[in-house]
Amino acid sequence: MLTSAGLRGDAARCRKLGIRAYLPKPVKQSDLLLCIRRLLDPQNPTEDSAPLVTVHSLHEARRRLTILLAEDNTVNQKLAVRLLEKRGHAVVAVETGKAAVEALATRSFDLVLMDIQMPEMDGLEATMVIREGEKKTGRHIPIVAMTANAMVGDKEQCLLAGMDAYVSKPLNIKQLFDIIEGFAPAPMELSSV
Ligand code: MN
Repeated sequence: MLTSAGLRGDAARCRKLGIRAYLPKPVKQSDLLLCIRRLLDPQNPTEDSAPLVTVHSLHEARRRLTILLAEDNTVNQKLAVRLLEKRGHAVVAVETGKAAVEALATRSFDLVLMDIQMPEMDGLEATMVIREGEKKTGRHIPIVAMTANAMVGDKEQCLLAGMDAYVSKPLNIKQLFDIIEGFAPAPMELSSV
């Protein structure tokens, strides 16, 4: 249910009617995505007594992500680390695509933020290596490209290499958080209204 004016008693009425989520308009892109993911999550209870999914419950459940950042430019790297940590996420930063592949082999991350042009192994190649390795595990880590004012062709290349999304550099805080938090797995715990 999308509403432009919330009224007292809405939650109870929604539940009575079998509505499972309730969001105010205008809907934030990231909230809508989180909400849809939550509703489609097989772990999410679907019985009539399940709590209504609201913006409040979505935000409350926003979790701390562990992010692998691959960026060779020191200034950009520091900026990204600062923004992500201030937002409450944990960040491990590396300078090359090769180092990113190695980091992923040694510990688990929720998401990768990947620069395209890097020494040793660029972001596209690193992504292809990561996706190739995932064929054995069946997993799929979200990889978000950081593209310097990308031309249309660059973005297509990112997606072709197996990346899931891209953000433009210089980083736009809102775009960055909207995208990466849209990939946050929907939590299992639901809070009620
Ligand atoms: Mn670079």
